[in-house]
Amino acid sequence: MAPADAIRTARFFWIQTKIMDTYYLGFDIGGTNARCALIRNTEGQFKILASQKHSIRGSQTPRDVALVIRHVVSKLPQDFQINANELSGIGVAIAGQIAIDEHTILNAPNLNWHGVNFYDVIRESIADLAPDVRIRIANDLNAIAWGEYHFGAARTIPSLLAVYVGTGIGGGLILDGKLMLGADNVSGEIGHCKFPRYKDYPCGCGQSGCVEAFAGGKAIEYRILHDIQNGVISRQELGLSDDEHPTARCIERAWRNGLPYAKAFWEETAMAIGMLIANAIAVINPHGLLLGGGVLEGCPELLSLVVGNIMDYAPRASTANLQFIKPTLHDDAGTLGAALLCL
Ligand SMILES: [Zn+2]
Repeated sequence: MAPADAIRTARFFWIQTKIMDTYYLGFDIGGTNARCALIRNTEGQFKILASQKHSIRGSQTPRDVALVIRHVVSKLPQDFQINANELSGIGVAIAGQIAIDEHTILNAPNLNWHGVNFYDVIRESIADLAPDVRIRIANDLNAIAWGEYHFGAARTIPSLLAVYVGTGIGGGLILDGKLMLGADNVSGEIGHCKFPRYKDYPCGCGQSGCVEAFAGGKAIEYRILHDIQNGVISRQELGLSDDEHPTARCIERAWRNGLPYAKAFWEETAMAIGMLIANAIAVINPHGLLLGGGVLEGCPELLSLVVGNIMDYAPRASTANLQFIKPTLHDDAGTLGAALLCL
């Protein structure tokens, strides 16, 4: 090829590359739903084109969930005029510990997956649709922290600790613009920090004494149910009907109504969560603390107690510049973050 032709070809290729959109799918796999977002990247400008939620209640095997992913990929041409082989990446966020190979789910208690090579299951399920697409599997809180850090409320924060109290207690950590994965890909597992007083509480991780086993959403429900069954408190006092499942929100409601049981319950729970985060702040000294998850976002009185305990127990010197941040992307944070982690 003559030099002039080579320059023309290179310029043409550069123009083609410059204006080309790339597409990513992000999935956030929870205990009952698989959320999904289609994201377009135009020269570094990311836009969510569509979000969906697929129920996986009663069909939570790795193969079942991979079939949801396959279904979404297969519908791209029809719904968005995008061929599956045009996809640049599929990011999958899962509430669990992911091995250093980023293929194997070591432990996902909400899905009851242990030692599952989910990467291979996904790869096989879409082999005929998108054989070369990049697939990345990440912890859900890592994905959420990454999503909020790039596109949400934490955009201007140099270092960020994200702690979400939902079904369990998860965390994600960003230092100097880098998502911390750790030596074993399990950085940020803050819910599995232990205190002696919770040593009799078994955790979904297989150990005992974790704060999540006492103060995570599932544990809160278990503690209320246990107290009802043992006559410590009645359903009527908590404002629950006979067939209503007790959740964190019934404690929040009872706290507002001045029920002493709820006051003690929230104070104990807020002490566990607040002291846990205060200790993490002592070690990390982050610029920003992102607090979210269904329990904290749905129970503002609990959140207020937690924040008070963080300020009481974190070292004074570590909170001088600490900013408390509220999530802004909500359900989109995990899907967006998972997709971004494919880059
Ligand atoms: Zn644990």
